[in-house]
Amino acid sequence: MRAARTRGLWNLVNLSTPLGLVGAVVARCELRPGPLGLIEARGWTAPFPGGAAFTVGDVVFTRPGLRMTPELWRHEGAHAAQYAACLGLPFLPAYALAAAWSSWRTGDPASRNAFERGAGLVRGGYVERPVIRTLSLRPLRRRG
Ligand SMILES: [Zn+2]
Repeated sequence: MRAARTRGLWNLVNLSTPLGLVGAVVARCELRPGPLGLIEARGWTAPFPGGAAFTVGDVVFTRPGLRMTPELWRHEGAHAAQYAACLGLPFLPAYALAAAWSSWRTGDPASRNAFERGAGLVRGGYVERPVIRTLSLRPLRRRG
């Protein structure tokens, strides 16, 4: 719990949790305390971002009807720790790059996304897709 408190304080100072709270208020989500020191913002209905839940700082946005499981809380808690490790808001462009990389390699934004893999693909409800594209650093062979 001490780690969660430290993360919570750091995500407050680095402004990622305040951004999440403002987003929740603007979107008229219901705020309530969650496990692991997280805050649940219930009732996110905008189409972006996709998925049943997403995290901004220590604020976990959930769609109507989603039942959060302990595994899903752990997954979202790992994302909150990733915000802290990225010094807060730099997490957002870093995550976007990781999702673009994963989409290019697998056709899916999570399968090769280092942040989703770090948080646990299965815990997050993802199915790992196979790699369909690779970068090759080998020089092209000459013909003839
Ligand atoms: Zn995730």
